[in-house]
Amino acid sequence: MTKNQEDYIKLIHELYLKHGKVTNKMISEHFNIKASSVSEMLRKLKKEGFIDVVDNEIFLTQEGLVLSKDLISKHRLWEFFLVKHLGFSWQEVHEQAELLEHATTPLLKERLNEFLSHPKTCPHGAIIYENANEITYVALSSKSIKEKLTIVAVSDEEEILDFMDQQDLHLQDTLEIIDINRNEDIYIIVTKGKEIQVPTSIARLIYVES
Ligand SMILES: [Zn+2]
Repeated sequence: MTKNQEDYIKLIHELYLKHGKVTNKMISEHFNIKASSVSEMLRKLKKEGFIDVVDNEIFLTQEGLVLSKDLISKHRLWEFFLVKHLGFSWQEVHEQAELLEHATTPLLKERLNEFLSHPKTCPHGAIIYENANEITYVALSSKSIKEKLTIVAVSDEEEILDFMDQQDLHLQDTLEIIDINRNEDIYIIVTKGKEIQVPTSIARLIYVES
């Protein structure tokens, strides 16, 4: 299995979680390559039993899903390691982990997991499959006024992480939505005695306990 094939499997998994379906077009747009190149790779992955294609929609097979979860766990373990032991910030780790996940053997993964004492989540709050059960969380933007909430995860995107840092927001912080301004598309929250205006685009990518 090449790095490129692994990236396809992971992308198919991620696109499915985000959009509920995956098409050739979505993949070619993501990688910014021709649809014909995507088709060629998909043929290979299908032949090797990692994906199925039904009515132009792409699905991971059981085997594909196992592989994808394995890669994602490696990715998240490395992120945890880099933040905890090498002083990386949570903005910096994604890129490093993208590289390291492909070079991690099963033995290295196991030792790394042991060394880190089996962390349940990555620094962004996403679960590490071997160590935790699926956590159900929902976007802050799906909640209503007056609810008391705990931040449990954030999307691994620069814009969100920068916002969290600027506003001194962290995982496990509790907050309350005190107003939702639909005209200006802003959620007004209070946390640690401070009022913060959260644009809806960001509230969609901050996750709280459901
Ligand atoms: Zn992460």
